[in-house]
Amino acid sequence: MGLAVLQDVRIMIDLTHTEIGIAARIVHQASLLSKRIQNEMVVTTLTKEDHSPVTVADFAVQAFLGYSLSKAFPEDPMVAEENSKFLSDKEGKSILKLVTQSLGPIVPGVTGDDVCNWIDHGGQSPSERFWTLDPIDGTKGFLRGGQYAIALALLVNGKVQIGILGCPNLDGGVLVVAARKQGCWKATLSDPQTFHQLQVSECSDPHQAQIACSFESSHTNVTQLDGLTATLGVKTEPVKMDSQAKYVLLAEGNGDLLFRLVSPQTPEYTENIWDHAAGSLVLEEAGGQITDLTGKTLDFSAGKRLVHNHGVLASNGHLHTIALAALTRNSTPI
Ligand code: AMP
Ligand code: MG
Repeated sequence: MGLAVLQDVRIMIDLTHTEIGIAARIVHQASLLSKRIQNEMVVTTLTKEDHSPVTVADFAVQAFLGYSLSKAFPEDPMVAEENSKFLSDKEGKSILKLVTQSLGPIVPGVTGDDVCNWIDHGGQSPSERFWTLDPIDGTKGFLRGGQYAIALALLVNGKVQIGILGCPNLDGGVLVVAARKQGCWKATLSDPQTFHQLQVSECSDPHQAQIACSFESSHTNVTQLDGLTATLGVKTEPVKMDSQAKYVLLAEGNGDLLFRLVSPQTPEYTENIWDHAAGSLVLEEAGGQITDLTGKTLDFSAGKRLVHNHGVLASNGHLHTIALAALTRNSTPI
């Protein structure tokens, strides 16, 4: 990724900075890897205990990140979504073979044992400083040929310092890099040297607002969302999109509000840190605002889940207060 220093009259992001530059390069490579797997490999899925799917791409990206981050930052723990235990039975072994094969061109000589070790590098606990990864955020979107994201964040003392999203199916493939106080920047996957700064929309009229929500109706509360759009007087239908690509949508001004409501089917659900860490900084550094549905700051210091928060509200900032007010009128019991 060279020594590009990206600048603008006001702020700049420095890709020569060790963590930002290395992490951006790794997520760029991982994004290309996921695309190659999607194009070339038969999509085989395993089903996890929570009934969600996991694919060759989830394992391959996590293995690649485990390998790359442990080499670049050997002291830093990695807290990631997947683990290798599914890869030991007969079905798992055939997936492991494909994962190993997919990594061959970028890590020559890789073995199945290496792959399992690198995946399990992500099984560490959050600490003062650590990386958190969702290798394929939106696996269901990946399987549908829709949106998904490779989401990597660096957390220090409970605060996200760097957030990177690789979105291979968004606008032909994009890489979005945010660093605290350095803004939010986007490049294409085909030209990861040229970055443009992202800025949220100016929209302050809820009638004109574009809402984004999960594609999966089981990840939200459809009835509550209908109530909110009616209360706010929003005219257009919500954009349904998988993964943290939704945060990019808001960061670049193509959406104004994001409601992550709690599904009535899973009222006890608490969010995973890797599902929001990178995206939250991407949005904030583009000028947006993110809280939970009660207006509380997201607390990334409480372990692997956002146990002190309830759902997520993200906005361009201008619509945040009015959206919180609409939530109090359309609330569900916490
Ligand atoms: P999205 O594509 O925005 O719906 O988010 C995908 C993420 O939702 C996955 O990575 C899961 O970790 C997470 N998820 C799984 N089950 C639920 C649920 N019941 N409510 C909210 N999010 C969920
Ligand atoms: Mg996820």
